Amino acid sequence: MATLADSATIEIARLPHPAPTAVEAREALIADPGFGKVFTDHMIVVDYDEGTGWHNATLGPRGPIPLDPAASVLHYAQEIFEGMKAYRMADGSMGLFRADQNAQRFNASARRLAMPEVPEELFTAAVRQLVEADAEWFPPVAGGSLYIRPFMFATEPFLGVRPAKQYKFVVILSPAGNYFKSGAPAVSVWVSEYTRAAPGGTGAAKCGGNYAASLVPTGEAFAKGHDQVVFLDAAGNGWIEELGGMNLFFVFDDGSIITPPLTGTILPGITRDSLLTLARAEGLNIREEKYAIDQWQEDAKSGRLVETFACGTAAVVTPVGHVEGRKHDFTIGTGGPGQVTSMLRDKLVAIQRGSAPDPHGWVTKLS
Ligand SMILES: *Cc1c(COP(=O)(O)O)cnc(C)c1O
Repeated sequence: MATLADSATIEIARLPHPAPTAVEAREALIADPGFGKVFTDHMIVVDYDEGTGWHNATLGPRGPIPLDPAASVLHYAQEIFEGMKAYRMADGSMGLFRADQNAQRFNASARRLAMPEVPEELFTAAVRQLVEADAEWFPPVAGGSLYIRPFMFATEPFLGVRPAKQYKFVVILSPAGNYFKSGAPAVSVWVSEYTRAAPGGTGAAKCGGNYAASLVPTGEAFAKGHDQVVFLDAAGNGWIEELGGMNLFFVFDDGSIITPPLTGTILPGITRDSLLTLARAEGLNIREEKYAIDQWQEDAKSGRLVETFACGTAAVVTPVGHVEGRKHDFTIGTGGPGQVTSMLRDKLVAIQRGSAPDPHGWVTKLS
């Protein structure tokens, strides 16, 4: 068997699908897909073994993955993932947005979780081939996309505590509509007293464990009628970090914008990075700077702060309209989307969908 450990050329074997979803059933599923509930017919699976490296890459029917009950992911949570999208371009083709950045971040997460890196060519070939194989699952809805979920987990049956010697790299696809079910123009957020990531921890890695730890605070936010959680720094200084799965930007009345700096406890969002680049190209005064929760409230009340938005691949750019916490309660601007938020969102979406020039070379067209 050919191994891929040190090889740049990757053969992904095609396995036949015995029973692909019938056209009518598929069309019903993608007519109103929501987010993360509908899955396509195929998946990519690649195995890793310490001795062999990456091998046995297949594109085959999506289905359950057999797992030994002692597999270390089930005990010590060695798991990482990525979230990216294939977009429908203005010319009808499909495109990927900055997929190389997802591949690189995936490997940064792998290093932090003591997992093997996936060669960037393998990561992008897997994503590309799967999207092309299931292209007809693209949802025919406004703002629709094929959400791509690459992930890796430890499969070695071993209960000792050390990095596992066997892993699987898997890619699945989920036709997606709008992320927030309300489709509301602005979200309401709850300032949590739980924290998401401590200095020296795994906050900058996209690992399932971070999300597991955010579920209680997120549940609390939902129970109080909010859409998302805002996490503050773990040292208790009141610095705003990010939402459970999105980065934050603050817009002031003089046109300046700030976003919290990447200190190691914040996930380095690719949407965040893209918006920084776009705003700088527009000549906006945008800075990576710490911002405290009390200041946020004071500035919103005085009118110095005019807009706040959250950003990430799943929900793109989402205005934050209302903020509440045990010690805070305020509305931002009019409580709806602001001008700068809408302008940056439109610029980003236009590049992602190929309806504006792509000066940074961010989009790769698929066949
Ligand atoms: C994935 C993620 C983001 C957003 O990253 P994008 O690359 O923009 O999708 C922000 N915060 C957290 C915690 C995340 O997991």
